[in-house]
Amino acid sequence: MIENSKQLYLEDSYLLKFEATVVRSGPKHALLDQTAFYPEGGGQPSDIGELKHGNDLWKVNKVLKRGSEIFHYLDKDISQGIKIQCIVDSVTRSWNMRRHSAEHLLTGLIEALGEPPKIYSDLERLEYQPSKLNQEQLNQVFIQFNEIIEQNLSVSVYFENRTKINASDDPRKQSFLKKIPPNIEKLRMVDIGGHALTFCMGTHVKNTKEIGKLTSLNLVEGKKDRKIVYFNLRQN
Ligand SMILES: [Zn+2]
Repeated sequence: MIENSKQLYLEDSYLLKFEATVVRSGPKHALLDQTAFYPEGGGQPSDIGELKHGNDLWKVNKVLKRGSEIFHYLDKDISQGIKIQCIVDSVTRSWNMRRHSAEHLLTGLIEALGEPPKIYSDLERLEYQPSKLNQEQLNQVFIQFNEIIEQNLSVSVYFENRTKINASDDPRKQSFLKKIPPNIEKLRMVDIGGHALTFCMGTHVKNTKEIGKLTSLNLVEGKKDRKIVYFNLRQN
């Protein structure tokens, strides 16, 4: 066992180059003393990138968190103990981070319509059940979303003691607090311009402009009042 890897991505979503030491290695994988590679989780896929040591180069194909340890899966073996230069692929990170931040904003805007909390979401869709959501409402959300992007509101990320969060007058806050294990005392909160507040360990853009505008927002109806909302952002 090693000490928990320091999770640099929790403090700075824009840190893409860093140095680290390989504290443990195995067949085509490495554990580092610190990492800015985001491990798959919370609906956000893993980062990819490279590790360098002198002229040696390893591709990072996937990053997964198992318990408190973060495994970097590589294209070949690496030696334990070496100091390495680490580069997170900026194109993949930016695209994931923008869509993940968009997912938060959509969650907030749809919940404000009186919908129950979503039952699933990823970087392409949000799912509700049972739900009365209709396409006309989504058309309004589409307009509202793109206005918020235009307004360039701040995205704030901060840690807060669970006991300090006053959820008494807000059913949305109550529902997300219930989902968090009781032993977690400090919560990492993400607020997208005052329109979406949640607990999240993912990576987020710093303002709404960077999310970019929606190009489509479509409703697909499933069985038993299941409603699936598909979203697309402009590519760049
Ligand atoms: Zn998030």
